[in-house]
Amino acid sequence: MTAQTTQVPGRSDTNRPRICGHFIDGSWREPADVLQRHAPGTGAVVSTVGAGTAGDVDEAVRAARHAFDSGIWSDATGTERARILHRVADMIEANSALLAALDAEEGGKPIRLSEGDIAGAAALTRYAAGLAVQMHGTTYTNHGADHTGLVLREPAGVAGLITPWNFPALILCQKLPFALAAGCTVVVKPSELTSSSTLEIARLYAETGLPDGVLNVVTGDGRAGQALAEHHGVDVLSFTGSTTTGRKILTASQGNLKKLSLELGGKAANIVFADADLDDAAEGVLFGAFFNNGECCVSQARLLVHDSIADDFLAELKSRVGRIRVGQPLDHATDVGAMIHPGHLEAVLGHITQGTDQGAHVVAGGARASGPALDEGLFVQPTILDGVGPGMSVFREEIFGPVLTVSRFHDVAEAINLANDVDYGLANSIWSKNVDTVLPVAKALKSGTVYVNTTIDAPPTLPFGGFKTSGVGREMGQAGFEEFTELKSVSIRTGKRSGTFAFGGVHAPRS
Ligand code: NDP
Repeated sequence: MTAQTTQVPGRSDTNRPRICGHFIDGSWREPADVLQRHAPGTGAVVSTVGAGTAGDVDEAVRAARHAFDSGIWSDATGTERARILHRVADMIEANSALLAALDAEEGGKPIRLSEGDIAGAAALTRYAAGLAVQMHGTTYTNHGADHTGLVLREPAGVAGLITPWNFPALILCQKLPFALAAGCTVVVKPSELTSSSTLEIARLYAETGLPDGVLNVVTGDGRAGQALAEHHGVDVLSFTGSTTTGRKILTASQGNLKKLSLELGGKAANIVFADADLDDAAEGVLFGAFFNNGECCVSQARLLVHDSIADDFLAELKSRVGRIRVGQPLDHATDVGAMIHPGHLEAVLGHITQGTDQGAHVVAGGARASGPALDEGLFVQPTILDGVGPGMSVFREEIFGPVLTVSRFHDVAEAINLANDVDYGLANSIWSKNVDTVLPVAKALKSGTVYVNTTIDAPPTLPFGGFKTSGVGREMGQAGFEEFTELKSVSIRTGKRSGTFAFGGVHAPRS
């Protein structure tokens, strides 16, 4: 089966996959069953993808294993692997309009952000190409003249990648090119809600001449993900999604104790001190909270503001929030698009109600957004809830929608305590022009990322991942690359051995 294509509604310059099978061992396979995706902005059916089974996953893992064991990719030089990745990066850029439209339409995210995601996906692919060229181990020559210690860095084997719906192409490219750069072969299971850009990117890889079986994609729901997590043929599993599913994956992967990286939920804080550039901080706080509809693991969903400036700062936020445009995902004027599915819309509105029931008061928004362009879709008004304390569910739980909570603090210690007083530890932001404030606070925050006078702003060089229930392992940077590798120590003794054998390096003279 080949990928069928049709026009993207409203776009004349792009084609999109409509009914696609799984991509296994270099060819498109007819799915036994399919899933339909309704666009969150309009309710219309926009794509149909295969409902992968455990049997499909098994076939894909076997293809990846065969390709890995053949050495066709794992033994290729870094330069050869990099050449493919650079070509794919060029093709992602050449196809950016299509890829951005697919993610915006299926995911409900504003097209401008989606375009940024695709640019990021290409940049990550190029960065990973550089890592392929530089992949290396270490050598130790400090254990006597007759000894050489080699630490070989090798590809980990077959990598399973499970991705969520909120950044389909971007998060795919936080994993896939890194795994390929390391020499792994791969099986991807994208979210059933947003599979099309992953299938398109698989098509681009195939067009570069990537050997059959090196990249496989099985679409489908959580059952396909579960089958991948359980499969004993998978050596390393990289998952991004909710903490709830992360725990299931931890259990499912125990059978063969596969290497795991889990990028999970978050509940980040924006900490605004009185000596911040308040204009920048106001822009950053609103961007951090409402970026990607608030459906973002690093969404800066909690504002912690010094009480000396809190009222004025909140008044400024209130005046600016009215300028945020809620609209159709494919409209370039849109700042906040549609929630991913009807159940999630209800959950977000439920969180707001729970917050007000517990004593928070609505400063802005607070309800479903309506209007002629919005009534068929799943839109929520950008919402600010003031008077939020650490005992409230909206302070602690991941809402994953356009909802910003506001809490006030009196001093640095209270700001740190509030920021850390959640189960998550993915990211936080500090706004202050005083390095004596910034550095100790950055060190005290229990999160994998700390932004200073900026928000949701990180180059591919910086490892990304969580403390606490936000996950284990890292993506991006050298550390993200190393998740897809194993170390092998080779201890070489040359000449006639003069000492006894010894683990730990202390040898008695040989008797
Ligand atoms: P889910 O955990 O629901 O799903 C993530 C992926 O796992 C999807 O492909 C899903 O398939 C699949 N899946 C579902 N159940 C299972 C299972 N039992 N075994 C294996 N795979 C399964 O997350 P969402 O897609 O709803 O994404 C939102 C969550 O992701 C939020 O909590 C967010 O914070 C987190 N996230 C974390 C990021 C990070 O880097 N730390 C970045 C972005 C998001 P399907 O969708 O088809 O059901």
